[in-house]
Amino acid sequence: MALIVQKFGGSSVANAERVFNVAKIITETYSAGNDVVVVVSAQGDTTDDMLAKAAEINPNASKREMDVYLACGEQMSMSLLAMAIERLGFPVISLTGWQAGIKTTSHHSSARIVRIDPERIRNELDKKNIVIVAGFQGINKFESITTLGRGGSDTTAVALAASLKASLCQIYTDVDGIYSADPRIIKDAVKLDEIPYDDMLELASLGAKVLHNRSVEMAKRYHINLEVLSSFSRKPGTIVKEVVTNMEKLHVSGIAKDDNVVRIALTGIKDEPGRAYRVFALLSRNSINVDIILQSIGRGDVKDISFTICKGDKEKAVEVLNANKLDLGFEELHVSDSLVKVSVVGAGMIDNPGIAATMFEALYEAEINIHMISTSEIKVSVLIENQYADQAMQVIHRKFFNLV
Ligand code: ASP
Ligand code: MG
Repeated sequence: MALIVQKFGGSSVANAERVFNVAKIITETYSAGNDVVVVVSAQGDTTDDMLAKAAEINPNASKREMDVYLACGEQMSMSLLAMAIERLGFPVISLTGWQAGIKTTSHHSSARIVRIDPERIRNELDKKNIVIVAGFQGINKFESITTLGRGGSDTTAVALAASLKASLCQIYTDVDGIYSADPRIIKDAVKLDEIPYDDMLELASLGAKVLHNRSVEMAKRYHINLEVLSSFSRKPGTIVKEVVTNMEKLHVSGIAKDDNVVRIALTGIKDEPGRAYRVFALLSRNSINVDIILQSIGRGDVKDISFTICKGDKEKAVEVLNANKLDLGFEELHVSDSLVKVSVVGAGMIDNPGIAATMFEALYEAEINIHMISTSEIKVSVLIENQYADQAMQVIHRKFFNLV
């Protein structure tokens, strides 16, 4: 007998029919002899609707009261799901985050789980109950209700799996696993049977948006086997784990696109020690994260430095750079926001210099110009014009995944 944590996202419980579909998945797992702890999100677009409703009352409501309110979305779905399971004739109990012992920091609207006291859940499992826990919420040391940030139910599920030492944590969603690229863009994207945690983290931060990033970080830290699968298709999904058994065969897990990039170029900076330091120290003092950095070879006694930042930091970066123009000593500042970052991700990359070459070859054949390149142990990224983004994804994907 195993203990399995199953998490169902908002779309999986969006209406009565889907709630019963999920109830069947849960009760089948239970009937197979497993202890089952379920984490559930608010139904469908409930959280968005609640946000809109709260804004009608007070657009500047305190985060504390917003948390009290938003936590209700998950409480409604947990009890509805429990009612469906009761109706199927199985023993079940629903618990709020605080009843389930989920203790968090005090950062309302983006709290982090500090620890879980699992006694209550253990007692209910001992009584042979199926336990449904509201996702996305907990309680802080002042006994105020907190929420974990949008999409936080994945993190609730993985934290419970770690605390209860579950053998598997299944994340049920509306896609049937992790794909080698966004299937809406790349028709021949393939579903991966397995993917390493590190690749998943890269793909999530690069915009794959299937799992909450914090849940993957936590799964990695506690060695939790995560499975991402669809509540609609009932097919095996993708297992996210430490090492992929088939690593020899495929070194690339996926291709991702990230359009949240802006490139800033500073031209005519004096070519002497300390200049790059001044630029990046200034950005860091203003909490602006820099991703790719490129410095040109000096011409005469000047050089250019370009770098990428997130779109949200654009105004601030331009403002602080211009305000310090004299001290930094650049001639001109250019901003390009028509670029995207396309990346090939794979943990086996470090041993395979051919991967970057293959990616560049695909872009060359499609006559797509590369503006910037960055490489790390597990990814190769290029910056290109966003009008070519989808085409670039296609040609790169074809090179790596549809080898004939
Ligand atoms: N209901 C919350 C949200 O929509 C949490 C979640 O779905 O994981 O962000
Ligand atoms: Mg959701």
